[in-house]
Amino acid sequence: MTHASIGSKQMTIGEATLFPLFAVLAFLSLVAAALSPFEGQLSTFRPYRGAGHPCYRCLFREPPPPDLVPRCEEAGILGAVAGVMGTMQAVEVLKELLGLGDSLDGTLLMYEALAARFHRIRIGKDPECPTCGAGTASANG
Ligand SMILES: [Zn+2]
Repeated sequence: MTHASIGSKQMTIGEATLFPLFAVLAFLSLVAAALSPFEGQLSTFRPYRGAGHPCYRCLFREPPPPDLVPRCEEAGILGAVAGVMGTMQAVEVLKELLGLGDSLDGTLLMYEALAARFHRIRIGKDPECPTCGAGTASANG
């Protein structure tokens, strides 16, 4: 897990299963990226802002079984795809810290390297989310 801060703004940068919970509990923004051999996904999560701002677990409720997802070196991730997504993740972190531009909060940016295509989909807050849904400590402040 990486922590970044400029002035009073702080955020968490990561993509594993414990980072999202930490970010929600600490009221931090999370910029998360994920890779498959020829594709990438990127999003920013700010669930502390309330309705309309999903957390990581609103999108990915449960982590997959450990034996189902191969490690990057086993899956054969194309290094350049990791470079594209890592660079874009760094840009989103800087935008969050500096308050610039449009956030990916509430959307998932998907990159398909073989088709040379980007597209964004909206993601909603899950009212039944075990991390930020109604009735959880984070939903009640
Ligand atoms: Zn949630």
